[in-house]
Amino acid sequence: NVKAEIVAVGTELLLGQIANTNAQWISDELASIGMNVHHHAVVGDNLKRVENQFRVSQERSDVIIITGGLGPTEDDLTREAFQEITRTPIIEHKPSMDKIESFFEERKIAMTPNNRKQARVFAGSDVIENQTGMAPGMMISHEGRTWIFLPGVPREMKRMMRDSVLPYFKKQHGAGSVIKSVMLRFIGIGESTLEHELSDLIKQQTNPTIAPLAQNEGVAIRLTAKADSDDEAAAIINRAKKEILKRTGHYYYGDDDETLTEKVFNLMQKNNLTIGAAESLTGGQFTDKLTSVPGASKVCNGSIVCYDAKVKENVLRVSSDIIKQQGTVSEACALAMAENVRSLLDADIGISFTGVAGPESSEGQSPGTVFIAVHDQSGKRLAEKFNFQGDRQAIRRRTVLKGYELLFK
Ligand code: ATP
Ligand code: MG
Repeated sequence: NVKAEIVAVGTELLLGQIANTNAQWISDELASIGMNVHHHAVVGDNLKRVENQFRVSQERSDVIIITGGLGPTEDDLTREAFQEITRTPIIEHKPSMDKIESFFEERKIAMTPNNRKQARVFAGSDVIENQTGMAPGMMISHEGRTWIFLPGVPREMKRMMRDSVLPYFKKQHGAGSVIKSVMLRFIGIGESTLEHELSDLIKQQTNPTIAPLAQNEGVAIRLTAKADSDDEAAAIINRAKKEILKRTGHYYYGDDDETLTEKVFNLMQKNNLTIGAAESLTGGQFTDKLTSVPGASKVCNGSIVCYDAKVKENVLRVSSDIIKQQGTVSEACALAMAENVRSLLDADIGISFTGVAGPESSEGQSPGTVFIAVHDQSGKRLAEKFNFQGDRQAIRRRTVLKGYELLFK
């Protein structure tokens, strides 16, 4: 199996001014076609250090993908570094030069001479045209390694990966061979528990490969199958999926880009149910997510943002006894909010969120203390207490996610 490495060039990455999202994105794409990435490296815009990095990469990796340092400015040194260690001549790429010149002509701006630099490519390389910018990418073999040079600008890099690099690797896997990948998404189960449930499968994995990963909305498992045909790959994936869901299906909510919110929306729509929400610490975020689904009005009746205790009392009609005696961060208050919002908004299901987002404690309760209540059409009432970790925004986000999880079950 080939070992791939991603090298990001740019001092701004080392200074912490930008995050290395290029490496993350490329890794994710390579994983989806079953390629193993063994290293990420970041190096500043310094000729000697880039050269040293390239020597290390040449030594340890079969495929080296570099982003950044192909632009027109003095500090763009990627070409020079590779030339220095491989003695590969650099030539001007006429089609790219024409494109750059006409770019400036069309906009009637004078072209500074350093822009010519962007059209320079390695002799003998496969030039990857830049559809969305100026500097072209390159692919070149050197002493048994495949080197791929891409611009740092994420939009340009992604386009080249999608149009040229990924198709090239897919083809390399052999004529007619296909790679298929699916993400199984779970909520309500931690990454380690999920991995534990599947540990024997993960240990034996070859085809498909099985990789658990933590996500914003719960956890996911990526299955990647290699086969001679689409159908065969799909069959391999389905067999593994069936076995995985036999053990953990209770927590499964969807494949690939499906979100938990959409899942809940579809579930409600199928059963002809509407939702009304009473949101305190979430400030409307629960409903914001729900209304982002097209056709939301079929399911979402509305939301009352009841941040202040007076609004809970005067608008949501939570009794002053509850508020005085048990406080707004209490099971009783959450239940009253859910019940009352259900009738006030004429919804089948009322859901409520009350708690302490922090950073300060409130009503003697520490940040992360949250009550969520649900009152449904059959009269069933449920309230749960949670202790979420993290800062204010994380607590609010987790609260919203948990709300969807409760409706999903
Ligand atoms: P250009 O032709 O635009 O100069 P370049 O190939 O020289 O491109 P850089 O100058 O290194 O690339 O980066 C251009 C911009 O792309 C940076 O300002 C940065 O915002 C973004 N960028 C560079 N590298 C990365 C990275 N690893 N992850 C995310 N963004 C990046
Ligand atoms: Mg640049």
